[in-house]
Amino acid sequence: MRYYIVLILSFFMLSAANANAQAKLSVKWEELTANDFRAAIAKSQGTCLLPFGILEKHGPHLPLGTDLLNVRYVAEHAAQEEYAVVFPEYFAGQIFEAMHQPGTIAYSPELQLMLLQETTDEMARNGCKKVVIVNGHGGNEHLLPYFAQAQLYKPHDYVVYVQWGHEATRKVGAEKKGPDWHAGESETSNTLVTHPNLVHMDRAKEESGADQGRVKLPESVYTGIWWYARFPNHYSGDGSTATKEQGEADVQGWINTVVHAIKAVKADDESLKLQKQFFEQSQHPLDTPQ
Ligand SMILES: [Zn+2]
Repeated sequence: MRYYIVLILSFFMLSAANANAQAKLSVKWEELTANDFRAAIAKSQGTCLLPFGILEKHGPHLPLGTDLLNVRYVAEHAAQEEYAVVFPEYFAGQIFEAMHQPGTIAYSPELQLMLLQETTDEMARNGCKKVVIVNGHGGNEHLLPYFAQAQLYKPHDYVVYVQWGHEATRKVGAEKKGPDWHAGESETSNTLVTHPNLVHMDRAKEESGADQGRVKLPESVYTGIWWYARFPNHYSGDGSTATKEQGEADVQGWINTVVHAIKAVKADDESLKLQKQFFEQSQHPLDTPQ
């Protein structure tokens, strides 16, 4: 009898310990044990985030990893609010336009696609049947939709979602003139929130982030040198007017957007179903009803 009581008691204690561990599951892939990883995939319903950053100059005053640091801050906070497993640091993106600046890591186009494919394949093999690429780098704006579209090339048992952009936030102070695209007021404000110790506000004016407009072409014509033609210092805008207040509003808006995206992806049962149907039909297109 005593033996059974001990057994029952230890069962309850173990369950409580388990529930505790479950409640405290880290969102970070690299922090989970193998067994906790299994629990994390179940808890996330197979929804995993791949925050995508880059290593490139960010004006004279922000760190090379600004996009990586900011997108990870946002993804990790969002995943804590709506549970998802967050893949480790990833920065193999498109950044050829900054190869003339120190510290840029620009892999070949072939490797970018191959590495991203093998990464999402490996994530899916480990149970991430919904992979959400949370983009933090403007230079990926062609790469990522192309990658997502290329998932239809051959059958996959998982879906790639690309999450991009966030709610517009209230600007603090007067409207500024010109673009604010890279290491300018907005991005500097955000970094003042995510990694204040890495921002060198005193250096923000050391270079110009003004648009130099050196190539004149109509909007309907695209050329790869456009960015260098306009912003050769790899700086667009003016970081010196950044404030923590503006960053707090913007970062919170970004987190909210990613939380909303995680919820929507978890609720989406159609994409995988339709993908399966599509792959099945694409094996024999002549049988597709016309
Ligand atoms: Zn950036």
